[in-house]
Amino acid sequence: MDEFKAKYRPEAGYIRILDKAVDIQFDENINGDDGFNRPEIDRGPLNEILLNSLMPGTVVWDQHFSSLAHEGDRIRLTFKNGTAAHADLVIGADGANSKVRPYATDLAPIYSGNMVLEGVVYDSAITIPKMHELLNGGKIFALGDSKTLVVSSKGDGSLVFYTGCSLPENWPQESRIDFSDKARVTAWFKSEFAGWSEAWLELFENANGPFIPRPQYCMPLDKSWHTLPNLTLIGDAAHIMPPYAGEGVNMAMLDALELSQCLLSGTHNDIPSALAAYEKQMHERFAEVGKETMENTKWMHSPDALSILVNFFSQAKIASD
Ligand SMILES: Cc1cc2nc3c(=O)[nH]c(=O)nc-3n(C[C@H](O)[C@H](O)[C@H](O)COP(=O)(O)OP(=O)(O)OC[C@H]3O[C@@H](n4cnc5c(N)ncnc54)[C@H](O)[C@@H]3O)c2cc1C
Repeated sequence: MDEFKAKYRPEAGYIRILDKAVDIQFDENINGDDGFNRPEIDRGPLNEILLNSLMPGTVVWDQHFSSLAHEGDRIRLTFKNGTAAHADLVIGADGANSKVRPYATDLAPIYSGNMVLEGVVYDSAITIPKMHELLNGGKIFALGDSKTLVVSSKGDGSLVFYTGCSLPENWPQESRIDFSDKARVTAWFKSEFAGWSEAWLELFENANGPFIPRPQYCMPLDKSWHTLPNLTLIGDAAHIMPPYAGEGVNMAMLDALELSQCLLSGTHNDIPSALAAYEKQMHERFAEVGKETMENTKWMHSPDALSILVNFFSQAKIASD
């Protein structure tokens, strides 16, 4: 926690809720507490803390997993670079598009109907000072016309943003948009978010690098799979879900913690029973958090989203006062 506190960004959790006209409807920043209730830390520093806590050589870089095969009690892993390795236990932690997942379960993520388009602006204080000032080192949630735009400040001076709206799963291909063409993506935003203020355009016009379309999937909420004796999943590999409850990282880290406790506490006689205990807890937790996430995804992209979100944060503020 000391290392975390040295590197986390308390102000980055503060939320401003804006309408599509860029008017502030709720500002946590004015009255907020120290922000520790929703701690934000950038991916880089978090990676560093976690990697530094490991024995040297624990992580083997540049090994892109491609397939695995069961060989007796062991598992043979093959990697894209042609190398292979044997393991007693495989923990698939390879994210949303996990290649390990199909070896653990036939269950597959289901398209939520929500499409995210993500962009980044470097040096936002210099590039887009008005938006930078509005962001005020925290987060913007903008809602209107059943669509969302989330903007977050990062510790390296950049800001990241993502739109959310209802689009077909194959929109990234079928729209034929070149996502590295800023002008084309800006034109798309203007037409898809017609009625939103032109002030938002500076995000798109000044974005760096290609935009990334991310169709949002969710694993089935009320289903589990039969635990294997020597292979399990954690994080998005186990339970990908849309980002609208902000729980993905918490869930991934809690999975890792609970799995390590099940494996190392001495409570379970062998690895298969430790994995079964871990997966039971994980499925139960996901059933709850995944449900909340899908509910949030739905109402945040509904006509009344703005008033619901403002009300939610206003009530939370009254409760904490
Ligand atoms: C736009 C957006 C906004 C989000 N906002 C939030 C938020 O505010 N709060 C929150 O908690 N969560 C948020 N999330 C979700 C969060 O990013 C994920 O839940 C979290 O990163 C999951 O962690 P993970 O370790 O399971 O997967 P990842 O962080 O995706 O890590 C997977 C790792 O596996 C590696 N990998 C992938 N394939 C292979 C392979 N074949 N071989 C070897 N390695 C491989 C990848 O390189 C990566 O390092 C957001 C997600 C998106 C898309």
